Amino acid sequence: MVTGVIGPARELSDGAQENAELRRRDAILEAVGFIAERFLRDEDWEESIQDALARLGRAAGVNRVYIFENRPGPDAAILTGQRYEWVAPGIVPQIDNPDLQDFPLRAAGFGRWEEVLGRGDLIYGHIRDFPPSEREVLMAQDIKSIAVVPIFVEQKWWGFIGFDACSAEREWSAAETDALRIVAGILGAAIQHQRVQAALREALAELQRSNADLEQFAHVASHDLQEPLRMVIGFLDLLAERYGGQLGPDADEFIGFAVDGARRMQNLINALLEYSRIRTRGQAPRPTDANVALQDALWNLQVAIAEAGATVTHDPLPTVLADPTQLMQLFQNLIGNAIKFRRAEPPVVHISAQQTTDIAAGKAMWEFLVRDNGIGIAAEDADRIFNLFERLHTQRQYPGVGIGLAVCKKIVERHGGRIWVESTPGQGSTFHFTLPAA
Ligand code: ADP
Repeated sequence: MVTGVIGPARELSDGAQENAELRRRDAILEAVGFIAERFLRDEDWEESIQDALARLGRAAGVNRVYIFENRPGPDAAILTGQRYEWVAPGIVPQIDNPDLQDFPLRAAGFGRWEEVLGRGDLIYGHIRDFPPSEREVLMAQDIKSIAVVPIFVEQKWWGFIGFDACSAEREWSAAETDALRIVAGILGAAIQHQRVQAALREALAELQRSNADLEQFAHVASHDLQEPLRMVIGFLDLLAERYGGQLGPDADEFIGFAVDGARRMQNLINALLEYSRIRTRGQAPRPTDANVALQDALWNLQVAIAEAGATVTHDPLPTVLADPTQLMQLFQNLIGNAIKFRRAEPPVVHISAQQTTDIAAGKAMWEFLVRDNGIGIAAEDADRIFNLFERLHTQRQYPGVGIGLAVCKKIVERHGGRIWVESTPGQGSTFHFTLPAA
């Protein structure tokens, strides 16, 4: 920190005066405590600034407190402009003074300010002691004494906060100017905090917009494609029925491919539609017995289980806060995958649960585990398999559209949980997901 402040030398204060100065310093610091807390609570920024200035003005016993913000002008000049102001009753405000909007410091005879404030020092004292070029401008605002403290944001000189005494001259003790430095430091931090918050809010809004757009698009596209596709399949079936065996073996094969392709597209569209409805059609989470949801899933999977000769076992499962249909869907997708991505030996799947805590949210959660003895997943693929349309195999190896895990992820996240996989390729995988405890 640069020392050496610019200001008039002062006679040694006597005890009484020193006490008064310390009381004023403490009043300023008390205001600082309030201001810091207020800014951190992220309330309305404009209102917080106005409150802060009023508090500081009263604590410091001045008539006017204001904040100027710099902006770059032509030819590397610094233009500074008044952004916020508080005035004591009876004092003429300067906030609407057009001369103080884009004030060219150097050109207006305030080159000293640019230099001193820019290197982090204060300017304070009585106007009658100031250089003539400054005196005229300041006296036109009825200022008798002033203290100006630079504000730095991210190590760059951002602007300054000023304190005017208009009714009478006023001294600034070292204790007080120290307190003012702290004020400016807090303001700099608050401005930076506010910038980050604004950028975050913007990014979040953008994300929500694009998510909603995507959902809308997926819904419209899949919904509108269903009907024409149904027609295509209908006509292809008709073609196969009427002309099968009459157009030559090549044509029969082509019709077969076309029907296959259309059916796959239909599956994809249905899956996409399902994906786009997770949030909009989901029910509010309510206490849901996971044992029941699992039984429903196993019922839906009975043909696949029987065909693969799979064994599915489970521990007693808890009651969680979930949309019952979506919990069933989670089990169905994960167990369905466990059976589909099997090795030569019959699939063995086990479902269990253990208690855990979401540390960030401070919430009690249940972690479900769906363990299989299938082909496993390489560590580098463990994250991307949860993306929409992400698949590791061809249709011929393992049929599918690559939406199942994206659906799982969206469901779990909608409930405030997480989903991930741990796996040893060639031995099996365990999918984990968390849901809030009921
Ligand atoms: P799909 O099953 O339609 O391919 P998913 O989104 O359900 O789509 O799965 C994405 C990919 O993740 C799968 O293609 C597969 O490669 C991999 N995968 C999912 N579950 C398992 C599992 N239990 N064992 C091995 N790989 C899996």
